Amino acid sequence: PGEPDVEALQHADAARLLPRPTGESDKYRRGVVGVVAGSARYPGAAVLAVAGALRGGAGAVRYVGPAADAVIARFPETLVSAGPPAKAGRVQSWVVGPGLGDGSEARQALEDVLASDVPVLVDADGLRLLSPEAVRRRSAETILTPHAGEAAALLGLSREEVEAARLAAVRSLTERYGATTLLKGSTTLIASPHHHPVRVNPTGTPWLATAGSGDVLSGLTGSLLAAGLPGRDAAAVGAYLHGLAARRLGAGPITSMGVAEGLEGVWRDVARG
Ligand code: AMP
Ligand code: MG
Repeated sequence: PGEPDVEALQHADAARLLPRPTGESDKYRRGVVGVVAGSARYPGAAVLAVAGALRGGAGAVRYVGPAADAVIARFPETLVSAGPPAKAGRVQSWVVGPGLGDGSEARQALEDVLASDVPVLVDADGLRLLSPEAVRRRSAETILTPHAGEAAALLGLSREEVEAARLAAVRSLTERYGATTLLKGSTTLIASPHHHPVRVNPTGTPWLATAGSGDVLSGLTGSLLAAGLPGRDAAAVGAYLHGLAARRLGAGPITSMGVAEGLEGVWRDVARG
């Protein structure tokens, strides 16, 4: 009673939550994020998710999938491997789904990361392959990041029905999957199990409605998870930085890689408080 239904993440909250390295940090302790994304058809999704992950503050990014050449060409600092995620080496979080497709290898990769004991963020194609049971039985946290169309498919509703009741949609996904859910769109909403107020992201711009921007958000949020933020905070801070980076590019067409590149400056400004 008296508790609000939604709350906005404040700038000071984002500043407080940003994971900063300490004197004892090395790249492994700062967090390694694993990215399972991309396909022969959509190699760019892998590059954009890695771009977001590299700018999110993790110590290293591991990429697993068929777009390793494209990833390395753009980001030589990425650790790449060709086999299944289970054989890729230790990570502190997984991001799975952008541009992944729905073939048997995609299914196997999703199964692998869900079986891990680290936090997992599932986006895009990963959401299409997901069952509530597979998420519910996990020992670590899971974050789902659907846009309205993906949320509609998960809930068996139409996109219009989701758009007309976004708060109810994000809550029912959280309940059904037992996972933090970040519902993207004109207002981004974040719901978590056992937390009442839904967080609404105060940053962003309609210019973010551009190909690939969700892939950048996935990598960025996965990176914050790897650095140790709880899912609910990683999702909120990820959306906050992403929206701020886009807004700073100004009122006009922006590219998703431009948003990823803008994260560096935004990170510094937010960290200053
Ligand atoms: P995706 O659909 O996965 O590419 O993700 C699109 C990204 O753009 C998400 O971060 C959305 O929240 C954001 N976005 C899409 N449409 C709008 C809008 N009209 N206003 C603000 N942000 C938007
Ligand atoms: Mg997307």
